[in-house]
Amino acid sequence: MGKCLIIGCGGVASVAIHKCVQNSEVFDEIMIASRTKSKCDALKEKLDGTSSTKISTAKVDADNVDELIELINGFKPDVVLNLALPYQDLTIMDACLATKTNYVDTANYEPEDTAKFEYKWQWAYRDKFKEAGITALLGSGFDPGVTGVFSAYALKHEFDEINYIDILDCNAGDHGYPFATNFNPEINIREVSANGSYWEDGHWVETKPMEIKRVYDFPEVGKRDMYLLHHEEIESLALNIPGIKRIRFFMTFGESYLTHLRCLEDVGMTSIEPIEFEGKKIVPLQFLKAVLPDPASLGPRTVGKTNIGCIFKGKKDGKDKTYYLYNVCDHQECYKEVDSQAVSYTTGVPAMIGAMMIMTGKWNKPGVYNIEEFDPDPFMDALNKWGLPWQESRSPEMVD
Ligand code: NDP
Repeated sequence: MGKCLIIGCGGVASVAIHKCVQNSEVFDEIMIASRTKSKCDALKEKLDGTSSTKISTAKVDADNVDELIELINGFKPDVVLNLALPYQDLTIMDACLATKTNYVDTANYEPEDTAKFEYKWQWAYRDKFKEAGITALLGSGFDPGVTGVFSAYALKHEFDEINYIDILDCNAGDHGYPFATNFNPEINIREVSANGSYWEDGHWVETKPMEIKRVYDFPEVGKRDMYLLHHEEIESLALNIPGIKRIRFFMTFGESYLTHLRCLEDVGMTSIEPIEFEGKKIVPLQFLKAVLPDPASLGPRTVGKTNIGCIFKGKKDGKDKTYYLYNVCDHQECYKEVDSQAVSYTTGVPAMIGAMMIMTGKWNKPGVYNIEEFDPDPFMDALNKWGLPWQESRSPEMVD
């Protein structure tokens, strides 16, 4: 059916690439382009010949718009799937605009020197994408991503009005290390050490990091401590779900993870301010990333499950209603299938599906859109087909 250029070849990209190759009916040809070409070549070698998808590789510095334009003009993809880091979102969008190519990503733009993620930079491209006749699909991972699709599905099929959404992200996987992060450590630690916030009655309410704690009994996982975090999909859902009164996001953390994180923060290792070290400027958080286990190495050692989903409360036919949509994913099952743990899997599968929605023309409207602005039904079907089946409950335990 078409061609997809995948930028980045880390944990999430590796899963998305496995899935594109499995889905060769849609992905005739893919190109894997990243900073370290040897990683792209190794993946090509592993996957070549496992399906009819043709794979090529390239080296690219995605901070450089001209290099990206040259790459896109040479390959002529139907869509660019950005699975590098959030810092590269705008340069890749610029290159897509210059070449009139559709764009998909999984995380919103974040300037490297301020740990503040918001959609305003990418939403500023709306008119330009519309005029160019191309689609940008923002946030096609799990959260953001599937959480937005779940919200659109609940609104379409289960509610007349949704008033409350609690997004619950539980990773009950155990990798056996005293401290490691499940995806890029720099991005992960920036996210969890920032102030928390939630949306209520039309405005943001800010909290201290990890200030709000709840215990939740997750289906197939059991009771876990979870903490309120700021999360990027809250910003777009607050605009796109009419009648919404409150949206919160909770993520589970174990005691050991939090104790290590507190200690690293206390000694200044999570800072993004450059410091002078032996005549060189280094960023403490980037140095920390270099000494922590590579998330890609956690796959074989991680056991247990993830459970990520949304609990909705609202009205249907004049009556109060609650509804819970979630997916449970098993780390070892993911590893058996694609050599990755479930955190990369739950992001990489929706990334492939997002690219597929655009390539098949099921989702096609020129402009820049968040995922909940599209029809959720074909995406929900694809989740069941491609490894992330969803479950529902009509009498969920609620979070107070
Ligand atoms: P990794 O660090 O494992 O991979 C990032 C990849 O991008 C690496 O291959 C890296 O190259 C490449 N890269 C970085 N900078 C450049 C550049 N300037 N030019 C070209 N390539 C570059 O990260 P993850 O796979 O864990 O995460 C990927 C994305 O997914 C991130 O944006 C993250 O925020 C997002 N994410 C989204 C989630 C969701 O549910 N929505 C959940 C988890 C992650 P190199 O190999 O040289 O380092």
